[in-house]
Amino acid sequence: MTYDPNNVFAKILRGEIPCNKVLETEHSLAFHDINPLCRHHVLVIPKGSYVSLDDFSARSSEAEIVDLIRSLGEVARMLGVDASGYRIMSNHGHDARQEVPHLHFHVCGGEDLGPMLRLPK
Ligand code: 5GP
Repeated sequence: MTYDPNNVFAKILRGEIPCNKVLETEHSLAFHDINPLCRHHVLVIPKGSYVSLDDFSARSSEAEIVDLIRSLGEVARMLGVDASGYRIMSNHGHDARQEVPHLHFHVCGGEDLGPMLRLPK
């Protein structure tokens, strides 16, 4: 899949639309999800143009990978959910119902998140 530079997270990265920023590093940006699904719901994205984890795992540099993983842990600690627990998810493609075609990790916590998956009936 080709990267679409007009996706909403690309616009956030370019400063064309605002976000509620949590953390910014050399290669990553974290901000609150506009439609939180739990008490704390933050998105962590690479600054580079990657459609999804499939793309990122194949093309990104080690520096970008390290930065993103460290940012995920840092965001969880900033949210104060490292002791109580949290869940990290990333949707790739159709079956996972990925909506925004720029790699993002959902960091969710602050309450009991229930079972990992509830499949549609
Ligand atoms: P996906 O289904 O692609 O894994 O998740 C996309 C996420 O992006 C959703 O949770 C949605 O609420 C969030 N989102 C979509 N548009 C915006 C936006 O303009 N700003 C922010 N902060 N989050 C957004």
